[in-house]
Amino acid sequence: MKSSTERRLTTAIFGATGSIGKQTLSVVESLGARVDVLTAGSRDRELEDACRKFMPRIAALADESAANRLKLALADTDIKVFGGDEGVVCAAAEADADAAVMAISGMAACAPMIEASRSCRRICMANKEAIVAAGDHLLSKIKEGGAELIPVDSEHSAIFQSLSGGRREDVSKLILTASGGPFYGKKRSELEGITPKMALSHPTWDMGPKITVDSATLMNKGFEVIEAMRLFSVPADMIEVVIHRESIIHSMVQFRDNAIIAELGVPDMRTAIQYAMTYPERMNGCAGEVDWKALSKLTFGVPDTDAFPLLAFAFEAARRGGTYPAAMSAADEVAVGAFLSEKLGFTDIFDIVKETADIVGHPGQTSFEDIVSADAEARLRAAELIDSRA
Ligand code: NDP
Ligand code: MG
Repeated sequence: MKSSTERRLTTAIFGATGSIGKQTLSVVESLGARVDVLTAGSRDRELEDACRKFMPRIAALADESAANRLKLALADTDIKVFGGDEGVVCAAAEADADAAVMAISGMAACAPMIEASRSCRRICMANKEAIVAAGDHLLSKIKEGGAELIPVDSEHSAIFQSLSGGRREDVSKLILTASGGPFYGKKRSELEGITPKMALSHPTWDMGPKITVDSATLMNKGFEVIEAMRLFSVPADMIEVVIHRESIIHSMVQFRDNAIIAELGVPDMRTAIQYAMTYPERMNGCAGEVDWKALSKLTFGVPDTDAFPLLAFAFEAARRGGTYPAAMSAADEVAVGAFLSEKLGFTDIFDIVKETADIVGHPGQTSFEDIVSADAEARLRAAELIDSRA
């Protein structure tokens, strides 16, 4: 059988102008892969640049007027341009790719992801909010669609890789590592005056603004706990979070004999993106090697859930199930947006997320429609709670 590089891997990149999207394009360039589809939200200039460089068959922007500008700008090419949310979904339906990288942030990824699972062979899943909110429904729709799903989030990629070290029935624990973010070691009272600028400087990973703030509050790690439960079908009490400041160990799997298998490397998302695209093959990587001489030690600690309560709350939301995770995720998106536009304090994010999820979330069996309406209601409630604080 020909290797995927010999066949020239074909990709479709959803969210191509974001942090994961751009890193995916860097991997595509290094692999010499073909690009069939490129989509984004509203940044038409950035998408135009990427289109000119990678010459996809189809491009789409969720924002209609940005899509109209892109159509004009690309009039000298054969690239088909779609606009609006339906345009992004159409691009997903028409995609013909070995690997569709799902790097749209938030719930907007749901519909294109379901379409791409019908049209493409594999979903390389970076998006986490949709998995947290609608996980089991979404995963079964992807399965129905016929695509295989490979995780891109570095922790889940590490677990996916480490699971091959033993039998599934012998797994006793998934151990997620967390850098602890820029405010690791601070007490709750010391977090009051944190500004967006301070929150946006992550010590080890270079990411988009929303996930960088989520890393600073540890909400991101909470989401990743639920993401791991969904992707690997394990209960919350089989997951442990360990602080590991250096982000060299990307996560681990413990087996019943207490042996642990881990995946290590420099903190560079391109390794996980590339692995998801080329699995089970491994190609030359674009990320650097670990410099063992420069690295004097690897450190570990326990998360401080008094200072960073959203991690413990995510475990609680996971146990309650139903629409709690969806309400928590939607409220967080609104609260982080308000924090970034300086309408909300850093520690107020904790309160808005918990209060909203307690009002909107319900345990028990849920349909996909229940999740979508809990998401919408949580956005309204969170905005009201934020306004009432102003
Ligand atoms: P960014 O905010 O940097 O990028 C988001 C992308 O989605 C952009 O291309 C944006 O387009 C597009 N987009 C936004 N809204 C819509 C919409 N309504 N319809 C279509 N496209 C839209 O995010 P990241 O790249 O950081 O993260 C992407 C996803 O991957 C998130 O779910 C995140 O949690 C997850 N993730 C990210 C990691 C990272 O290292 N960054 C690590 C692990 C997971 P535009 O630029 O035009 O707005
Ligand atoms: Mg991660």
